[in-house]
Amino acid sequence: MRRTKIVATIGPASDSPEVLRAMVEAGLDVARLNMAHGTPEEHVERLGRVRAAAEAVGRPVAILADLPGPKVRTAELGGDPGVVLVEGAEVTLVAGDGPGTAGCITVDHSGLPADHADLLADHADLLADLRPGDRVALGDGDVVLEVAAVASSDAPGGPKAGGGRAAGGGGTTAGGGTTPGGGTVVTAVVRSGGRLRGRPGVHLPTTRTRLASPTEDDLRLLEVACAAGADLVAVSFVRGPDDVRRVREAAGARGPMVVAKIETAAAVEALDAIIDVADAVMVARGDLGIALALEEVPHVQKRIIRTCVAFGRPVITATQMLESMTSSPRPTRAEASDVANAVLDGTDALMLSGETAIGRDPALVVRTMAGIAERAEAEADYPRWGQRLGRIQRVEEVPVPLAVTAAVSHAGWLAASTLDADAIVCCTRSGATARAVARFRPTMRLLAYTPSTMVANQLCLTWGVEPHVLAEQPSTDDLVWFSVQHACECGVIEAGDLVAVLAGSPDDPDSVTDTLRVVRVR
Ligand code: PGA
Ligand code: MN
Repeated sequence: MRRTKIVATIGPASDSPEVLRAMVEAGLDVARLNMAHGTPEEHVERLGRVRAAAEAVGRPVAILADLPGPKVRTAELGGDPGVVLVEGAEVTLVAGDGPGTAGCITVDHSGLPADHADLLADHADLLADLRPGDRVALGDGDVVLEVAAVASSDAPGGPKAGGGRAAGGGGTTAGGGTTPGGGTVVTAVVRSGGRLRGRPGVHLPTTRTRLASPTEDDLRLLEVACAAGADLVAVSFVRGPDDVRRVREAAGARGPMVVAKIETAAAVEALDAIIDVADAVMVARGDLGIALALEEVPHVQKRIIRTCVAFGRPVITATQMLESMTSSPRPTRAEASDVANAVLDGTDALMLSGETAIGRDPALVVRTMAGIAERAEAEADYPRWGQRLGRIQRVEEVPVPLAVTAAVSHAGWLAASTLDADAIVCCTRSGATARAVARFRPTMRLLAYTPSTMVANQLCLTWGVEPHVLAEQPSTDDLVWFSVQHACECGVIEAGDLVAVLAGSPDDPDSVTDTLRVVRVR
């Protein structure tokens, strides 16, 4: 039985009820709606189809709405053959919407949401934030430019930075002349060359530029996602804990869980503070691989996962996990190893993007990922993992509001392990207790019972948790009795089995999980 969860992006290739159903049967746990593509209406319809497929199969599936965040793109570079940038060549970046060439790339701000227009009002454009030595990546990060000089074309007296020269931009900065549209002229050298087509993304260093996340568009999309009943919402390009807080406040206390996507250098620097405020985290390796040197990515992945487990936050490892299966029936050996290694790192969930959104066989991809994950879990030393975490928890400080949950969840895991129990049952209102126990990666079945359908769905993201909805109960005794009875009814445990049950006091709405019972099923 697989414990690592699978998140798959739903797109044109996975929109039909048949494919969705096959994906759920193959083991889909969380359906991701990538709101960077398509209309809000399309996503609401998609959400309905996922709910219907989950219902038909009889398996809980969570819905994750992924907000796009700020996106800067070049103006049109045309289809094939596009524009070829040669390593070592000099290229100019200017703001505008005219077509670009190999000598001058126009960076289009017009796609930015309205709030960014205000941000930029006192400033020529985003390019003004650049400094010599900065890296600017284009597209998927294959093309990398290094900034040589930054000049203001409308400042009388010519460029601010020495040597700035507009090449092929149509205007000149000398003698107070202006480039069409005015603004900044950035001279850069191509460090890594390649072909660009269409309107590739422009990746500016996020530590300094004023691209804010969430954008106004994100907040509008968030409203749509909340109204449609999304269980989780992901925030792209967060830079620090405040970006996550803004989404949390907009989503409301009873709203979806907020997933912080770690994909900027600023977010890596503020990692602990972000993980602390986020409900869940994504290692967004696609953009992370552009924001950082590629060789950093595997180690940042491990660091993020380790920190998330210590904080009890579910963590998703994302992007290019089975990339070649977008067009091929089998993954590469490297991809199979990548999936297995993420499992061994301790990730809660593995994510599929284009593989299932536009790939040739979305259900096959989910099945393949499930097989690799399950095999890797057989190699993982989960008992040692739990012991290590238990030690860390005893010596390191746990925030006061979590102290009881942390101690009781540890005690529950310890009791279940020592007694070689057959299952752990968590009765949880918010899901926090189940997540706290899952951190220890218990080897026995881990069942969660909650009165909230949304909480049950949200637990689809957490390693090893099998969520169920159980009606509100008047007392702790009833909670224990009815949850264990349900676990027997669905065949997870049987007469003679030993179960560790964690529960709170349902008559006290403020209570945390404070009870551990060890029950022998009769
Ligand atoms: P994206 O995020 O697919 O929305 O860009 C994931 C990533 O960057 O890896
Ligand atoms: Mn991204």
